[in-house]
Amino acid sequence: GESEQSHNVVLFPFMAQGHMIPMLDIARMLANHGLAVTLVTTPLNAVWIRTILDRAASSSCRVRVLDIEFPCAEVGLPEGCESVDLLPSNDLMINFFRATELLQEPFEKLIRQEVENPLCIISDMFLGWTVETAKVLGIPRIVFHGTSCFSCCCSSCIHEKKPHINVGSDTEPFMLPGLPHDISLTRAQLSEFSKGNSELMAAGFSRVLEEMRRANSHSYGSIVNSFEELESEYVNHYRNVVGMKAWPIGPVSLCNRDQIDKAERGKKAPVDESACLRWLDSQKPESVVYVCFGSLCRLAPQQLTDIGLGLEASGLPFIWVLRGDREQVDQWLPEGFEERVKGRGMVIKGWAPQILILSHPATGGFVTHCGWNSTLEGLTAGLPMVAWPLNAEQPMNAKLVVDVLKVAVPIVFDTQGVVPKEAVEQAVSEMMGNGEMRGRARELGEMARRAVEEGGSSYMNLTLFIQDMIAYKKARTMDTAP
Ligand code: UDP
Repeated sequence: GESEQSHNVVLFPFMAQGHMIPMLDIARMLANHGLAVTLVTTPLNAVWIRTILDRAASSSCRVRVLDIEFPCAEVGLPEGCESVDLLPSNDLMINFFRATELLQEPFEKLIRQEVENPLCIISDMFLGWTVETAKVLGIPRIVFHGTSCFSCCCSSCIHEKKPHINVGSDTEPFMLPGLPHDISLTRAQLSEFSKGNSELMAAGFSRVLEEMRRANSHSYGSIVNSFEELESEYVNHYRNVVGMKAWPIGPVSLCNRDQIDKAERGKKAPVDESACLRWLDSQKPESVVYVCFGSLCRLAPQQLTDIGLGLEASGLPFIWVLRGDREQVDQWLPEGFEERVKGRGMVIKGWAPQILILSHPATGGFVTHCGWNSTLEGLTAGLPMVAWPLNAEQPMNAKLVVDVLKVAVPIVFDTQGVVPKEAVEQAVSEMMGNGEMRGRARELGEMARRAVEEGGSSYMNLTLFIQDMIAYKKARTMDTAP
């Protein structure tokens, strides 16, 4: 028969840090399983992806990166806005999506020219139109949502059954009917996307979203950065009730074990990464609180002050990652803060080597915004967490770790949606002191590691996925044979 060498997989990640990083890991996993991988992205993103691949282990030589020009000017975006993280403001989001839609024709052309006999296209949920490309090429389109099956099930329930419509206020909880557990949310916790009544929607977003949804539900299946044991009921619900073929193959962050590689997986060079790790080496096991709110989000200055004061009051050692302009960040910090916490607390102004910090033995807990990558990285490291969701599907991820898995302390917002310093201190202390929670978290971390080992559930799912794609191709070749 045909050797696996001839199987080309096309990957098209969405241009946002939190979507690119796991896709890059998936690219390498597929390469490690013997496939030839072509990753398509815009020129600026291609630069840092190539840098990472160049430094990484042998698998990388089987990942080829192809550039596709991003039409900034055509949609009125400033030069170089090739990633949502680089947009000067959220109002430009709709322009960004228009630009991605304009990629349809050049993408098809690129694949026809550069990729011989592709096996399938794996693309981000935000690139729904790739389903059309796959159709004309006669290959399956696989969607990557970048989140848990749990949150896919919640979103599907909200979209189908609209339980939020007849609720009295934005803060009144409503139940999500038909899920394996009693899950409740409030309207305030739904993303702009789910609510569908914001300015974004008025600006033409509903059409974009509707098309994306349709495209995604017409896709062949979905690759999930999760593992069966973590959320088996929701994996099944997603397969059987939502009706999507799904292959949980994660945690994908475990798939490259090379240290340099892990540190460099972010776009920007980490801020004195070795100093940070040396400092961790000097701390007691499981004693340090790591605080990070992902790649995108910026908190209000007052909220940052409260976080700082809360961490200070806790008396615990900590690493706190702050994003934003360096000078601004200095203004936001409480007066005299860095001096007072010197030696006990470390503030990272920039891109932290998150995976290395989380997996360091001195790290004992993770205050997270519940972006799915961070959540899964925390679970993988076997750490208890403080769940501090901000937007998008983060409140759903928070429900999973707080209510279903019981490995996280929920943050309590006051009526203004702010978390006062006392609440920060309390949540952090509870996370660090709750032995049962720590025990459960540790078990999940072990399960995560077993899942990706040879014979583990994620390893098997990846094999099954590849077999499915090859069988699809064979069947099609026979159909079209003379
Ligand atoms: N990350 C990192 N260093 C930072 C901030 C983030 O390495 O200083 C990584 C983190 O490990 C994760 C990703 O960036 O893989 C963030 O993705 P997530 O889904 O958690 O949140 P988002 O940034 O999409 O809100």
